[in-house]
Amino acid sequence: MLFSVIAEMDESKWDDKPGEEYHFPKRYAKMLMPGTRVVYYKGRLRDRQFRGQRLSDEPHYFAIATIANVYPDPNAKRGELYAIVKDFQPFTQPLLAKNHQGYFEEIPANRQSNYWRDGVRPIDQGIFQKILEQAHLGSVVQPETDVDTDDNTHLESASYREGGKIRYFNTKYERDPQLRRAAVKLHGVTCSACGFNFKDFYGDYAEGFIHIHHIQPVSEFGGEKEVNPVTDLVPLCANCHSIIHRRKDRTLSVDELKVMIASNKDVKT
Ligand SMILES: [Zn+2]
Ligand SMILES: [Zn+2]
Repeated sequence: MLFSVIAEMDESKWDDKPGEEYHFPKRYAKMLMPGTRVVYYKGRLRDRQFRGQRLSDEPHYFAIATIANVYPDPNAKRGELYAIVKDFQPFTQPLLAKNHQGYFEEIPANRQSNYWRDGVRPIDQGIFQKILEQAHLGSVVQPETDVDTDDNTHLESASYREGGKIRYFNTKYERDPQLRRAAVKLHGVTCSACGFNFKDFYGDYAEGFIHIHHIQPVSEFGGEKEVNPVTDLVPLCANCHSIIHRRKDRTLSVDELKVMIASNKDVKT
């Protein structure tokens, strides 16, 4: 098992949401593989306006979590990645990076001058354990689910019989908030089939609203398979999503739907 410390800036160009995702440069990829246990760290307070958002002005650890999954950032210029985080456990009190016995982290001799600059720092299990023992752990916080997580709830699970075999189709993966968040991050909130954008049409009230469609119906899996948001999930507007699932025995592909829309337009004009 891997263990790392990840640094969170008070003000970050990385647009991180502690407990939800962590955006990072490619060079840290090996230190943040899925399953890595991470300790959140903040350096010394630099700008007093952020005092209220921290547990301490001093360099400190403030939470632990586990890396659930890592995806390439589609807008990255230098191959940046982002990690989806799970089992976020904030500390109820800050754990200072340095106590009377010295630092928790072991600073390699050749890194004395610039060690703390690294955004991600691998640690061994012993250090992780020590931090864990001294931390005042709060309860596990599941990231807030999006208000519109249940966008797809009208598409209930269904089962049907085909060739003597009962097959199941369900939208479980389309409702998973973590996958939904990853899909929106990767693909945006504009319908992949018709180009409809809820905010453009309805205004700010509809901002962020979109259905997430899972391309491969669950019935075609041989059991559970990991969903890859890059290839398996697409944003669809509510209309396109309904049409794609209109027939329970066959889900259309996004391309089929696109062709349908385009050819129907041609007929009318
Ligand atoms: Zn659409
Ligand atoms: Zn769907």
